Amino acid sequence: MRLPDLVQTATDAATTARRSLGEYASPTLRLGVTGLSRAGKTVFITALVRNLTEAHRLPAFEASRSGALKRAFLEPQPDYNVPRFQYESHLEALTGPSPRWPESTRAISQLRLTLKVAPQTTLGQLVGADRLMIDIVDYPGEWLLDLALMDQEYAQWCARVLARMGRDDHAMIAKPFLERLATFDTAGTIDERALSELAETFRAYLIKARQLPPGLATLGPGRFLMPGDLEGSPLLTFAPIPPGRIGDGAVGDELTRRFDAYRTHVVIPFFRDHFSKLDRQIVLVDALAALNGGSRALDDLRDALRAALSAFRPGATSWLGRLFGDRRIDRVLFAATKADHIPQSSHEALRQILHALTSEAARRAEAADAATRVVALAAIRATHETTATVSGETLACIKGTPIAGEALDGETFDGRTEAAIFPGDLPANPAKAIAAAEADAFDDLTFLRFAPPDLDASGTRPWPHGHLDRAIDYLLSDRLP
Ligand code: GDP
Repeated sequence: MRLPDLVQTATDAATTARRSLGEYASPTLRLGVTGLSRAGKTVFITALVRNLTEAHRLPAFEASRSGALKRAFLEPQPDYNVPRFQYESHLEALTGPSPRWPESTRAISQLRLTLKVAPQTTLGQLVGADRLMIDIVDYPGEWLLDLALMDQEYAQWCARVLARMGRDDHAMIAKPFLERLATFDTAGTIDERALSELAETFRAYLIKARQLPPGLATLGPGRFLMPGDLEGSPLLTFAPIPPGRIGDGAVGDELTRRFDAYRTHVVIPFFRDHFSKLDRQIVLVDALAALNGGSRALDDLRDALRAALSAFRPGATSWLGRLFGDRRIDRVLFAATKADHIPQSSHEALRQILHALTSEAARRAEAADAATRVVALAAIRATHETTATVSGETLACIKGTPIAGEALDGETFDGRTEAAIFPGDLPANPAKAIAAAEADAFDDLTFLRFAPPDLDASGTRPWPHGHLDRAIDYLLSDRLP
């Protein structure tokens, strides 16, 4: 070995030793935050950071309750190639002169939050470890669903998507695409304009499918719905054609290549560069909307949960399993968000319903060994509890300020007036609630979108939440030094 090599080797060894000691002294946790569009990711991360860095009331978070948590602060993120989560502007939106909910997640972003604590573990005390660095990675759940594309060939994917278009609730919105497809020439030469038009009509269909109540549709490709930095990219110029027409000629071959290119240049890099580096994961689910949406919505939610669980617990021999290597996402928290839309007396029922759905999905995804937990969560509580007496019966209600334009029983709200609402009762028995939703016999809950509450901007008063502390405790406590 030449001298420079030896020097290099010695330097490498010293760096490695220093790094592993450093890893003990300043452990890092990569926390993935996902969920389909509008599930509540942006609000959750903003509330999480605000509640840890400023005044908080988090009694179920052990380090906060015991006083071990000294300080939490933001630091520059480690990956410069990932956009930063726009915490400050989200905070401004929520606490500005006319408070509004922040802009939702549209692509991947990251934020480093460091917690400084009085070490509680013997090892922590021994090595003088006093902090945990948390890299929060926010990414659209739609991208996770792309994992399913990895086990399908183009023909299988086409068959699946076209079958979904045939479903009666999709027939109307799929019509423009199906009409375009009927005249699309698969036997001729490749016409770039016709191809992009077909892809554009397909994308328009996917977007409409997403808007069907309750907006859960789990059809991909994920980047057609949430393109991130791929807006307008040629990687998004493919669409399904009837499998029987793929063999017609050059067009079918080209579409197959584009489908494969999407997998190679979009799906694999996301899973390799971001997803496989996560240690923990929270999956936000708008379960209330799914229950209200009936059997189809419930099916979609089940698909989404199963897809998420198979991604978190891939088989060791699958390509994703190989990407993970020895790493594993060791805890997954499923959170039913916006729980402040129902009274606290129904939160346990909501938690149980999501628990039943995730357990079932875990069994079907053969991911039963994943350490999972379920919580009913309101990252920001926009309502408070009240009661109403109707025909001598006391009903648990919620009170808040519906967003301007929301309407109920013929009344349209102006965005300034508070209203008390009886959203309905969730059956205490989760199986009953699920069975009712499956049979489209669920007594719909009344939902209104509420404006954000009056939130403190000075950093001195805690923000109202529901069970955010339970979520934080499950995700972070065991990793604190
Ligand atoms: P994302 O697409 O997953 O980033 O979703 P957002 O975090 O932007 O949330 C979408 C919308 O859901 C928000 O604009 C709010 O209207 C609503 N929302 C999210 N979290 C909460 C919550 O904790 N309470 C209430 N009342 N509404 C919420």
